Amino acid sequence: MKCICGTKGWKVKKITLGNHLNPEYWHLLNEDFHFCPNPDCDVVYFSQKVSFTVKEVKTKVFFKEKGSPKPLCYCKQVTEEDVIEAINKGARSVEEVEKMTGIGNGGHCLITNPSGRCCKPNYTKFINEILEARTEPENIQAVTPETPSEDCCTPEK
Ligand SMILES: [Zn+2]
Repeated sequence: MKCICGTKGWKVKKITLGNHLNPEYWHLLNEDFHFCPNPDCDVVYFSQKVSFTVKEVKTKVFFKEKGSPKPLCYCKQVTEEDVIEAINKGARSVEEVEKMTGIGNGGHCLITNPSGRCCKPNYTKFINEILEARTEPENIQAVTPETPSEDCCTPEK
């Protein structure tokens, strides 16, 4: 199902919606809702009839948040700023950042993450981009791509 912006969304469960929307909207949640990951679109959740934008969703949405702090891991409330700090303090791999910040080991993304999906692919990409940007040219190491199958809590399709 497509959002009004044309982006194909993915289905989110009622438990996810309920956690990120105020109770005044819960009576509207009796149909299938999808999440729009487009960073330029204000719509977070949409169904055939109803849509909720970033104004109605009480949680900052990683995909759409332009300011800081920008959340990366919702279970452990780790932000991009926390990750950068860990790298400044010497973390040199995704595993080291995970150890230093606790990012990614919450296991409750289905409820805490407004996208209803695991945060790991997003923060892994973010950490690798920063580490790559900071790698000295004479010191380049092979970067092993992360496999999406390592999701800590992939919701059922
Ligand atoms: Zn959209």
